[in-house]
Amino acid sequence: MSDAEDPPFDPVAPNTGDSYEPVDVFPDSDDFDLRPGADSCYKCSICDTNCPVAEVDDDFPGPKFQGPEQWRLKQTDDDYEIDDSITECSNCMRCDDGCPSGVPLSQMHNTARGQYVDEQMSKFSITYWRNRILANYRTSARLASIFPRTANFVMNFGPVRWVMDKTMGIPNERDFPAFATETFRKWWQKQGGADASRQRAREARKRRGEPEDADKKIAYFHGCYSNYNTPEVAKALVSVYEHFGYEVVVPEQRCSGTPMFANGMLDDARRGAEVNVASFADLVEQGYDAIASCTSCSMALRKEYPELFDIEGVDTVAEHTFESIEYLRIHEDLKGEIEQADVSEDLAREFAYHAPCHARNQGLERQAVELFRDLDNVEVEDVGESCSGISGTYGWKSEKYEKSMKIGEEMFDHMEDAEGTTGMTECPTCAMQMEHGTGYEIRHPLELLEAALVE
Ligand code: SF4
Ligand code: SF4
Repeated sequence: MSDAEDPPFDPVAPNTGDSYEPVDVFPDSDDFDLRPGADSCYKCSICDTNCPVAEVDDDFPGPKFQGPEQWRLKQTDDDYEIDDSITECSNCMRCDDGCPSGVPLSQMHNTARGQYVDEQMSKFSITYWRNRILANYRTSARLASIFPRTANFVMNFGPVRWVMDKTMGIPNERDFPAFATETFRKWWQKQGGADASRQRAREARKRRGEPEDADKKIAYFHGCYSNYNTPEVAKALVSVYEHFGYEVVVPEQRCSGTPMFANGMLDDARRGAEVNVASFADLVEQGYDAIASCTSCSMALRKEYPELFDIEGVDTVAEHTFESIEYLRIHEDLKGEIEQADVSEDLAREFAYHAPCHARNQGLERQAVELFRDLDNVEVEDVGESCSGISGTYGWKSEKYEKSMKIGEEMFDHMEDAEGTTGMTECPTCAMQMEHGTGYEIRHPLELLEAALVE
């Protein structure tokens, strides 16, 4: 478009990018040109006021700098190096939520962090390897799950933790989560896998007065934590979905990549994404929807994959990915069933609920509180809008531990002010932080749903 044809400049209207040719900003990112997004920033600084890291760390320049400003610097200076403060961003995505102009801040941060790690970070540094080990949790968890009892003892043995803190920078203050004695996938195979689920779902549909051959089927993305650490959450998902007459399949899968994005390990994340997209795209073609019980996993499949990777089938998978309770709220009369249900014994209590940042980014922050409002013998109290502070691997680094706990203070205080002494959240690392800061036991909403509807 020539200058004469350019529309008048409007500082508020999002720039659609129609008036100029895309430019390569970062190498290898031609398909993901973010200049239209960067130019939409009108420096209101709302993102900075939304950032939990900037709130506790005066040295952190904040998302506006990390995103559009750094993007422009890179665009105008070929020798510009990514500022190392990009590693201080926890990838909580609260800046995305706040931006009134739709600037793709976390996409910019993830891309810049990837470039920083690729080109500027020493591959011989302990920090690089510590981050790589933390980001590839699935690899450590697979090894630990071969001898889970031994791993549970060793990983929390004082002298071992002291050495890990001093040599690798993994904070001594945190307790390693326990590995289950049987992974979810092993349990699933013992239950008969997809064939047995198909049969149970048919019987449930018959019981519910629905056509036995109704097309209700989901592909479960359990992620690493539900497989290796909390299989009770994954089992609850299976039992709740089968209760509603859904056939469940558990396809081949790798880590969703969330901890890899946050550590700038984009090659590792891409390798996992290629397996996940191929596996789930195939099932989506056959009529399955992809369901995740962890809000960061659903976020990765539906938002981060299409933003970062040009993989065949990535958009199809993104369009058919849902968080587990969100999907049931859309397709079933979940509220109606909850109104008729009650919970006795184990889970009849008051819960202090924390909405993970990644649930907020998907618009899911109120669903647990609203869903369980009508459930007898249960109270679910929202503990407010603050970030838990752990942000996946962020709070698992010694140099960030204090910051992580400072961010979490508001949530800890609100949990302690709430009536109950049991926490609830959908995110496994928020659950770790909630437990660490208050000593409360933490449950997933699916466990309560199972107790109310199935048991
Ligand atoms: S909130 Fe959006 S428009 Fe405002 S400064 Fe941040 S990136 Fe720019
Ligand atoms: S993702 Fe979170 S920590 Fe990072 S800049 Fe945005 S608000 Fe701050």
